[in-house]
Amino acid sequence: MQSLVDVREPVSSPRRIRFERRKVCPGCRSAHANVAWRGRFSDEPVRSWLAWHHYAADVGFEVGDAPIDLARCARCSLLFHRFVPDGPSLSRLYGTWIDDVQIERFEREQGGLGPSQTRFERARSMHRRLLRLHRLAGSPFPFRVLDFGCGDGVTLDVADGLGFEAWGVDPSVTRTGRARGGVRRILPSAEALQELGQPFDAVMLIEVLEHLVDPLGTLEALARLVRPGGALLVEVPDARGWRGPPRTFEALRVVQPLEHLNAFTPEVLARTCRAAGFVPAPRFAWSMRGEGPRGLASELVSSLRPVGTRQYFSRS
Ligand SMILES: [Zn+2]
Repeated sequence: MQSLVDVREPVSSPRRIRFERRKVCPGCRSAHANVAWRGRFSDEPVRSWLAWHHYAADVGFEVGDAPIDLARCARCSLLFHRFVPDGPSLSRLYGTWIDDVQIERFEREQGGLGPSQTRFERARSMHRRLLRLHRLAGSPFPFRVLDFGCGDGVTLDVADGLGFEAWGVDPSVTRTGRARGGVRRILPSAEALQELGQPFDAVMLIEVLEHLVDPLGTLEALARLVRPGGALLVEVPDARGWRGPPRTFEALRVVQPLEHLNAFTPEVLARTCRAAGFVPAPRFAWSMRGEGPRGLASELVSSLRPVGTRQYFSRS
């Protein structure tokens, strides 16, 4: 595959996070893009945001005054950071600096729930998503599903309970260390999946694409692992209405330059997934009839909502 990055940015001060520059849009590979926001990691509110994130390292020091260059693709409209942490820096970020303490504090501040309640809510929402993927893929048994970016593996536990065969990929050492049971099914990289043999019936990427250096390349690789007619679920933060430069935490959240390397609107997300070989699933699933009147009614209501950045697709 053609390399997405060209040159390493010049190092002006000692720091341990190094960046490389993406020369083409990671959603459609166009070389034409416009400037959406330029600044530095030492600017506010970026500096305060990094401190608030409770990384297990002094990330403000680690990134120094590295440049920020957010671009908007002239072809597909994806917002993407030109400068992204290089491979070793991403490994440190997700393998070491984002640890249990950081995640638990972050989840508590986000949802105001304790660890058990947080886990309950996540398991409940994953249960719904898994059932929908299963129906979309034609309700097969056995049902082989891959959670790409599975974190602590809660989806794998729920899938186990439903009798599905679930696999996970996650590069994070600390997060998979939290996984209960089933750890042997969490692989560190997508390359390891190639050795598993037969294709998957469904793949899910929950809050993953915004973190990837090459989201289109990853989707293309996953499309090769999903059988024709198989299902895909993608979820990302919604970048609709974003205007830069960000002056508040809320405006920064969707484009925070260390972790959110790409920012999608619903239209851009659908375009990127289509480019990788997936077709949008029908909004209303008649196969929900088996869920009874209440299930059918809630399905109808949700199908009437505007399309957001949680989307289901089929492998063409
Ligand atoms: Zn593009």
